[in-house]
Amino acid sequence: MACAPEGRLLRLVRFFGRGLLSLCDRCQACSGLLPDTDQPHPLCPACAARLAPRLGGHCPRCGELGPQASAAPLVCPDCRRQGRPWDGFAFHGAYEGLLRQLVLAFKFHGRLGQGRLLAGLVAEAYLRAAARTGEGAMDPAGPDLLVPVPLHPRRLAWRGFNQSLELSRVLAARLGRPVVPAALARIRHTTPQSSLPGAARQANIAGAFAAAPALVAGRAVLLVDDVMTTGATVDTAARALRRAGAARVDVVVAAR
Ligand SMILES: [Zn+2]
Ligand SMILES: [Zn+2]
Repeated sequence: MACAPEGRLLRLVRFFGRGLLSLCDRCQACSGLLPDTDQPHPLCPACAARLAPRLGGHCPRCGELGPQASAAPLVCPDCRRQGRPWDGFAFHGAYEGLLRQLVLAFKFHGRLGQGRLLAGLVAEAYLRAAARTGEGAMDPAGPDLLVPVPLHPRRLAWRGFNQSLELSRVLAARLGRPVVPAALARIRHTTPQSSLPGAARQANIAGAFAAAPALVAGRAVLLVDDVMTTGATVDTAARALRRAGAARVDVVVAAR
C-alpha cells in the first residue's frame, strides 16, 4: 500500500504516541517501506547496519574513540590521568554518517521522526551501559532524575525546542523517572561550541551553567545531551551539578 506523506499532526502523534498509529511501516531513518513489523523503531536492514551501536574501540569512561571499532573498550590516557567529573557514561555511536545526519535533521530542521529514532538509540545506549559493570558503569539503582544539557534562553527561542530535553523525555518515560530541566540552567550566552576549534571550547563554556542545589543535592543525576565532541560542555555541566551537591552524575549522549 502506498502511504500519503505524513502531515505535521500525524508526525507529532507518531512522535509522542509511539506505536499508536501504524498506518504503514516505514524505515525510521530513510522512510523506505518495510514489511509488517511491531518494532518500536523499525529500520530497514541497510539503515540498521549503518546505525549499529559502537560496542568496542572506545574509552568506557568518556567514549573517546580509538581507531579499531572491534577492539575491547580501554580507558583512555586523559581519563587515567585526570578522571572525569561524572561517574557512568554511555553513548550510541560515532558522530558520523547516518547518526550525524539524524542529529542534524532533528536539531536544525525539527524532524520529529528522526528525533524519536535518536531518542530510542539513546535509551538503548543507556540500558546497555546500565547492564554492564566496571569502568564508566551506570548507577545500578538508576537515576533519581534526568537533566538535559540546557540551551541558553536566547538559543531556545531561536530553535524552538531543546533537542536534549526531547531525548530526555523519552528515556525518562522508559525508566519511570522524572526529567527536571530546572535543575540546570545556562546562565551565560556562549558561542556555539561547534563553531570553535577544540582548544577554545573549554574557555567558551566555562561558567556557563548553574545547578539548583534544592533539586540535585544528594541525588543521582543522569545528564543527557545529543552530541559530545571535546567533552567541554558535558564536563562543565557535570561540574556544576557536583558543586550543587549531586551525589553522582552519569552521562548519556547519542553521539561521540
Ligand atoms: Zn532505511
Ligand atoms: Zn576516556
